[in-house]
Amino acid sequence: MEILSTPIENVKGVGAKRASALKDAEILTLGDLLYYLPRRYLDRTQILPMARAPIGQEVTLIGQVSQTRFIPGSRPRFVMVVADETDDITCTFFQGGRYLQRNFTVGDELAISGKVDLFQGRRQIVHPEYEFIHGEGRLHHTGGVIPLYTTSADMKERGLRSRGFRRLISEALDAFAERIEDDLPAPLRQRLGFEELGASLRQVHFPASLAEAERARQRLAFGELFAFQLRLARRRKKNNEQADGIAFASSEKLVPALWASLPFAPTRAQRRVVAEIAAQMQRPQVMNRLVQGDVGSGKTLVGLSAMLTAVENGYQAAMMAPTEILAEQHFFNIQALVEPLGLTVVFLKGAQRKALRQELLTVIESGAAHIAVGTHALIQEQVQFARLGLAVIDEQHRFGVVQRGALYKKGAKPDLLVMTATPIPRTLALTLYGELDVSVIDELPPGRKPIRTALRGNDRREAIFEFAGDQVRQGRQVYVVYPLIEESEKMDYKSAVEAYDELRYGPLAEFTVALLHGRMAAEEKAAVMEDFNQNQIQILVCTTVVEVGVDVPNATVMIIEHAERFGLAQLHQLRGRVGRGGEQSFCILISYAHAGAELADSRERLQTMERTQNGFEIAEKDLQLRGPGEFFGVRQAGMPTFKAADLVADGALLQSAREEAMRIVDSE
Ligand code: ADP
Ligand code: MG
Repeated sequence: MEILSTPIENVKGVGAKRASALKDAEILTLGDLLYYLPRRYLDRTQILPMARAPIGQEVTLIGQVSQTRFIPGSRPRFVMVVADETDDITCTFFQGGRYLQRNFTVGDELAISGKVDLFQGRRQIVHPEYEFIHGEGRLHHTGGVIPLYTTSADMKERGLRSRGFRRLISEALDAFAERIEDDLPAPLRQRLGFEELGASLRQVHFPASLAEAERARQRLAFGELFAFQLRLARRRKKNNEQADGIAFASSEKLVPALWASLPFAPTRAQRRVVAEIAAQMQRPQVMNRLVQGDVGSGKTLVGLSAMLTAVENGYQAAMMAPTEILAEQHFFNIQALVEPLGLTVVFLKGAQRKALRQELLTVIESGAAHIAVGTHALIQEQVQFARLGLAVIDEQHRFGVVQRGALYKKGAKPDLLVMTATPIPRTLALTLYGELDVSVIDELPPGRKPIRTALRGNDRREAIFEFAGDQVRQGRQVYVVYPLIEESEKMDYKSAVEAYDELRYGPLAEFTVALLHGRMAAEEKAAVMEDFNQNQIQILVCTTVVEVGVDVPNATVMIIEHAERFGLAQLHQLRGRVGRGGEQSFCILISYAHAGAELADSRERLQTMERTQNGFEIAEKDLQLRGPGEFFGVRQAGMPTFKAADLVADGALLQSAREEAMRIVDSE
C-alpha cells in the first residue's frame, strides 16, 4: 500500500479523539496530514522589537495583550494594547468591537501586522492583521520561519493548535518520510531541479526561509498537477487509439449552401474553427471538442455547420441548450436557415402537449427529423434517435458532466461538440477540459461598435432611465436586469415585479414595458420574448433569464440594477445581450454598494467592466477575485481540488506539468 494512504489513526500521537477532530478537517490519512499546508508563515527575521517599529511602515510585531477596552461614542471602537519587553503599541478596531472584545483576553500572545501611525502622541495600528501564537513567543529569539495552520475549535481542544500541529507533523515525517513514494519519475524530477517528495514535504512545513517554503510548495503543486495531467493525457490517448467512432466525409453540399445563403461572410475565426471541427469529424475517433468563443462571436453558425456535415452523411444531429428561451431561439434560427435546404428540424422542450410530443418523438425515432433542437428534454428516456451522429451542447457550463454524457449516449459513438461563451481562463480550461480538444473563436464579426459601459450610483437612476427613454424614442430597445437572489426565488421575483411596476407607471410610462422572470410559465416567457424580438415590447424588465444566448440585435441598452451583486463573468454575459447590431450600444451598471470596504470592493470589480470588453481578461480578473471554486457560481462537477496547487497563481506550473505529462504518455 502507498504509505501516504496510511489511516490517520496509525500515525503516532493520534488517538481516537484527535482522529475525529482531524476528520472534520478532512484529514483522514497520513497524506492528508502532510498535505495540510500552513495557512501562512511568520518570518521571524522580519519581526521587530516594538521599540523599533517605525511610524508609516508595515511591520510585524509579537507581543502579549496587556489591556483591552471598548470605547463608545460617535466613533465607537475597540482598542487593545500589545506589549513586548521593549515597548507597547495600540491596536484600534472601528468594526466588530463587540466580537473582538470577547475574542481577546489579557495575556494572549499575538503576532500583529499592519501600518504604524501616530494618534494622540501614541503609536497605533488600525485594523491590524492578527494571529494567536500561543506559546510561540518564547521562541522569539530563535530566528527562522514559523508555519501557522488553520485549526478548528475541536482540534484546538485536542492540543492541535499551530504548535501541537507542528509537532504532530514533525513526528509523522520522522516516522514515514523515508518510505514516501515519490510522485514524480526520478529523471523528470532531476531535470526540473525538484527535491524528492519527502524532503519537499518537510521543507514546506519547516522551511529555513520564506523562499524555501514557496519553492517547496511549488514542487508539491507540480506533483499534483502532473498526476492530474497524466491521467488526462492517458485518457485522451486511449480515446485516440479507439477508432470506433464515425468517420464523416466532408460536406460538399449543405455547408457551402448554408454559407452562401447568409447575409454576411463568416469571420476568419469561424472558418478556421469550422475547418478544425470538420477535420476531426473526418477521423474515425470519437470527437470531444470544446468551442470557446466570446459572446457574439457566432458560435451558433459553427455548431450548425458541424451539424450539417453529420446530416449530409446520413446522420441526425442534436443541439441542446440550457434554457427554453435559448433553445427556442436556436430552433427558429436554425429552422429559417436549413428548411430552404430541404431539412426537417424539430423542437423538444419540457412542457409540450402529449400528442405533439408523441409526434415529435416518432419523427426523431424514424429518422425523418434531420436535426433536433431542445432543452434537457432531449435527454429524456423516451427520446430515441434513429442515427444520431453529432451532439452539440450549447453553453455547456450550464450542464453537468452527467447531462453531457446522457446526450452522447443517445447515439452509437456520436461526435460531441460543446460550446461555451464563458471565457474560461487557460489554467481552468486545462484542468476542467484537459481531455477535450479546444477550438477558440477569437474574433468578433466586423462592424460591431464597442459597448459603452458606465458604472453609476443609484442616485443617478432618474437620469439613467431618461437616457433609456431617449434611446427607445430613436427606435431602440432596452433590457433592465435585476439580480437573482439565490436564497429566495420569491424575493427575486418580488424585486423584479416591483421594479416593473415602478418603471412602467413612472419614468417609462410612455413605452411598452414587459416583465420576464424564471417563474413565468414557459409559453408566457416565449410569447414575451417573441414580442420583444418583434419590437412590440420596447423595454424588457427581467431577471437573469436573459443571461445566456439571447440575441435581439435592436436592443442597445442594458441596464443592470444592483450590479454589485453579480459576478464579473455574469455581467459580461449580460452585457453581451447588446452590441449585436450596427447601432452604438450602452451598458449601465447601477451599484447600490454603500460606503466603506463594500464600496471599494465592488468598485474595483465593476471598473473592470468599464475598462475592458475582453471576456478572457474579465474572466481572469473574476478568477483572481473569487477563486476557482466560486468561478462558475456552482462548483462544477468533475473539478478536481488541489491541496498545494493554486489554479489562479500556478498557470505556468500547470502548463509545464501538462507538457511533461504528454511527453511521457507519448513515449509509453
Ligand atoms: P454566440 O457566439 O454568442 O452564440 P451567436 O451565434 O448568437 O453568437 O451570433 C451572434 C449574432 O451574430 C447573430 O445574430 C448571428 O447571426 C450574427 N453573426 C454570426 N456570425 C456572423 C458573421 N460572420 N458576421 C456577421 N454577423 C454574424
Ligand atoms: Mg450562443
